[in-house]
Amino acid sequence: MNSIITKNKRLWIILSIYLLACLGLVVFLRNPPDAVINYLFQTAITQNKSRNFFEKDGLYVITTGTGAPMPDKNRTGSQTVVVAGEQVLVFDAGPGSTLKLELSPVDVGTVDALFITHFHSDHIGGIGELMLKRWATGSPQQPLPIYGPSGIDEVVNGFEAAYQLDKGYRIAHHGEKVVPSSGFGGEAHSFDLGSDLMSSKTVYKQGEVEVIAFNVEHAPVFPAVGYRVNYKGRSIVITGDTKYTESLIHHSNKADVLIIEALNKKFATMMANAGENLETNVTAIATDIQDYHISPKEAADVAREAGVKQLVITHILPPVPSDLMIRPFLKEARAVYDGKIYMVNDGTLISLPINSDEIKIQELLK
Ligand SMILES: [Zn+2]
Ligand SMILES: [Zn+2]
Repeated sequence: MNSIITKNKRLWIILSIYLLACLGLVVFLRNPPDAVINYLFQTAITQNKSRNFFEKDGLYVITTGTGAPMPDKNRTGSQTVVVAGEQVLVFDAGPGSTLKLELSPVDVGTVDALFITHFHSDHIGGIGELMLKRWATGSPQQPLPIYGPSGIDEVVNGFEAAYQLDKGYRIAHHGEKVVPSSGFGGEAHSFDLGSDLMSSKTVYKQGEVEVIAFNVEHAPVFPAVGYRVNYKGRSIVITGDTKYTESLIHHSNKADVLIIEALNKKFATMMANAGENLETNVTAIATDIQDYHISPKEAADVAREAGVKQLVITHILPPVPSDLMIRPFLKEARAVYDGKIYMVNDGTLISLPINSDEIKIQELLK
């Protein structure tokens, strides 16, 4: 009898301690001490910035926008950041991508140049924000150099015009020392590759970093280009939006990494059919887009033909609602290419140290 009472008493004591601990936790979470708040903020701000991901000399890629125009809760508009030695080069500036860039280990104030593949909104919608954040955090004396095919002047001038009022507010508030007026905005560097699909040109050369622009096929969008970055024996190719074309194979020849868009036609057709009962343009758009994007299988054909070491799939169309869909999305690609295939996320880091064949992939934001 006594032992039952003792046992019940013990149970009550344990239960009371447990409830008190839960209550304490709730109070703590609702009202954390300042020291804890400071620590959490400090950690959040410095988490990626304080770790030196670029310790070894090499070519590094961070995909800071892996979505397309269709809304995707995990992916923002197109952007790929390349760190080559000391230089920071950004490719495309889709909507929302600047925020992802700021969450990456790269300081937005250190961006040296922006390269645009074509003028669809999902590749340019974030130009204004990238120009502004680089200016406000880096205090540059010169505007951001922005490279692109014919039409880039019009686009850059348009974004500059839209941000003129904000420029005035910022200078009035923070002063010329923090936001020098000479460094505001962008400076367009236009190039013309003509209409020959196989043509290409070196559009940027600084030290050992070389960027070659080449034509791709995204009709009726013209011009539309891809870029190849070479640095000390390592190379990556960024295609932008394109159909399957010989130009991709030619310009990706023996590249370490091919970063290519992909539209899964089976999934896009399912989406088009699902939209039939909706009074929206979903069906028309999900059908139309299939004729100017490349499929995962065709992307893998390019990688195989070009002898690429690592295929990276981005600009995911249509959005995949779950990671379970990644394997089916890439199924046909895997059947035709023996190399490695990886569907990147916003915040994927790909490291290619020099004097090595290593290609290391890690997730920074997932
Ligand atoms: Zn696009
Ligand atoms: Zn496009």
